[in-house]
Amino acid sequence: MVDLKGQYEHIKSQVDTSVLDVIESTAYINGPEVHQFQKELEDYLGVKHVIPCANGTDALQIAMMGLGLKPGDEVITADFTFAATVEVIALLGLTPVLVDVDPVTFNIDVEAIRRAITPNTKAIVPVHLFGLSANMDEIIEIAKEHDLYVIEDNAQAIGGTYTNKNMQKAKAGTIGHVASTSFFPSKNLGCYGDGGAIFTNDDDLAHIIRGVVNHGMYERYHHDVVGVNSRLDSIQAAILRAKLPHLDSYNEARRNAARKYSEKLKGNPNIITPTGACDSEGSICDNCDCHVFHQYTLRILNADRDALVKHLNENGIPCGVYYPIPLHLQKAYADERYNEADFKVTNQLVKEVISLPMHTELDDEQIEFITQTVINFVNR
Ligand SMILES: *Cc1c(COP(=O)(O)O)cnc(C)c1O
Repeated sequence: MVDLKGQYEHIKSQVDTSVLDVIESTAYINGPEVHQFQKELEDYLGVKHVIPCANGTDALQIAMMGLGLKPGDEVITADFTFAATVEVIALLGLTPVLVDVDPVTFNIDVEAIRRAITPNTKAIVPVHLFGLSANMDEIIEIAKEHDLYVIEDNAQAIGGTYTNKNMQKAKAGTIGHVASTSFFPSKNLGCYGDGGAIFTNDDDLAHIIRGVVNHGMYERYHHDVVGVNSRLDSIQAAILRAKLPHLDSYNEARRNAARKYSEKLKGNPNIITPTGACDSEGSICDNCDCHVFHQYTLRILNADRDALVKHLNENGIPCGVYYPIPLHLQKAYADERYNEADFKVTNQLVKEVISLPMHTELDDEQIEFITQTVINFVNR
């Protein structure tokens, strides 16, 4: 699914030198590399504050702690996503409110958000799924109307751009009150272990969050709030510093691969290719960076998706099903408040979706073989 080795080979000398330098320096925790990476990521994103932390799940939890969300507060998020989002809501004693998604973008359905709002609603967590920003214009408008926080889960869309209705561009994860991301190795900007970060343009919130990640300390050994211990290691920061200058070209390589996949698969009546979101046709245009294709995800119609997974694996092609079970049906998050009729799209997508290999090292021959194998299966 990913080719981390191939990517490493291209930047090996720089990564190796940086890592060895950290080891020599012995500044393993909160060393200068962490601070430098923070600054470089702030510049890249055009956001005032980046607060590095241990992983993307912590980043979400810390964002919610920083906003002061309290038990009983309802937090709306998508039914079709990775469990981390709903997990931290539940862990903090908040009430998760799962809603359906849009069948074209796979992102949270804004009408479903509107219907889910109650007097207890405090926040919306849009997940920019598979590399495409959610409909932030509408989400920000709903949030303003109802005085809600917007926490962007940007684990899958770092480097992606959102263009608003006035044609202004901003990087995904810099539009809501606060955002989280993950540097898990297979993410678009991945380190060689665990890592994450929180972004915000709000000075006060950034200050609060810097204490929360550090045991609730704002002054050494004075614990003003209940915090956590969540840090990005200096070695991981050094690796991320080596990779950040390549992020745009990595995302471009992903977009090129996506464009080639779609050229080969488009028009097949049994396949819906993912939108590139660049125009009303869903094209993946040449010179924009709306979608950063963390995953390239097809919908398979009139054919057995699970049999296709088996067929691809038998032909030596890795693939993934993200996600096979709606969150509202997971044992940990099932709730009698939920009504099946409200999850029509997610319930359908979990049966149809399949993600093809997607990384920075895919070549034309691999894409040809993968697409031909998919087409042979769905056409038989
Ligand atoms: C990967 C991911 C996370 C969690 O990140 P970790 O670093 O693995 O904790 C959260 N949300 C989404 C949407 C993700 O894809």
